[in-house]
Amino acid sequence: MVQKRRISRVVQIGDIAIGGSNPVAIQTMWDRPINTIDDALVTRINNLKELGCDAIRFGAPRLSDVELLGALAPQLKMPLIVDIHFDYRIALRALDFPIAKLRINPGNIGMERKVFEVATKAKDKGVPIRIGVNGGSLLSSLKDEPNRAKALVQSALDEVEVLERIGFENIVISVKDSNPEYVDEAVRLLAKSCDYPIHLGITEAGTLIPAITQSAFYLGGLLKDGIGDTIRISISDRIEYEVMAARQLLSLLKIDERRMPKLVSCPLCARNSFDTHYFAQKIEERLYGMQGDFTVAVMGCVVNGPGEAGHADLAITGAGNKVFVYRKEERIFSGDAQEAERFFLEQLTLLEEASMHA
Ligand code: SF4
Repeated sequence: MVQKRRISRVVQIGDIAIGGSNPVAIQTMWDRPINTIDDALVTRINNLKELGCDAIRFGAPRLSDVELLGALAPQLKMPLIVDIHFDYRIALRALDFPIAKLRINPGNIGMERKVFEVATKAKDKGVPIRIGVNGGSLLSSLKDEPNRAKALVQSALDEVEVLERIGFENIVISVKDSNPEYVDEAVRLLAKSCDYPIHLGITEAGTLIPAITQSAFYLGGLLKDGIGDTIRISISDRIEYEVMAARQLLSLLKIDERRMPKLVSCPLCARNSFDTHYFAQKIEERLYGMQGDFTVAVMGCVVNGPGEAGHADLAITGAGNKVFVYRKEERIFSGDAQEAERFFLEQLTLLEEASMHA
């Protein structure tokens, strides 16, 4: 399904390698300021790992942010990336901590001396830098370039050149825009222009539906053509959705090596006697945390319920005034909705355990 993968250089981000023939890594970005580190924060981030997240990025506009992030990094089950604009002193301080990657734009860090200092320290520490160019923050010299995709790529390559001039090549690049057509064109051009790993994303992609639709269509197209080493699906919504959407996309393209259960659920109609909306949402995040090549069906009524149950490893369906649970094609429970849900969840745990030992 996926064309021959573009072979890029391998870059190590903490304990994960990206580029080359390594799996496409899933990233998200923490969406608010951090003023303190507590168990709830650490747990929420570590739960992202269960959903399939490989790395998390934090914006650090203040020096105090990197002090907190430095303390947070060792408590996480995934690499922590720090995103810094304008003030090179924040980048320098971030490098005193066990961070896995820096995202900067040399263009807005200012004088080459400052970029040199940051890159020298990053090189000493073995920390890669992502040059992340966004359509909204193009260098003023490129703002008048009529071809926006070309301007994004030129901006990225100019910034890469600054790092290369000082002997720094531990680089990842992204060229993002809120117009997905520009992203598509720019990434394809970038892929032909260098062999650095490429981080994919459409910036400011909007709320859940447009963000996922655009990302699936455009970033999915790039991945299908073998381009892309890491991905973030930016959504104006919960960061968990960013990870889940990326996981679905990679799974659909068969480029996520982690096997993920498939959830079949009906949209409901007037015939329903079981609320699939509520129940599918209840189990959805749990399924992302499970490893396995199996199908779970959540169906509203007997029109399609038993049929889908026949294709699923585990199914629940409304059936008049009862709710049935199936294992493969065999009906193994019949009762009221509450009991059926409880029974189904027990069966899901068994399925999960069996798949882990398979
Ligand atoms: Fe409607 Fe039943 Fe089909 Fe669900 S399974 S959409 S409730 S007919």
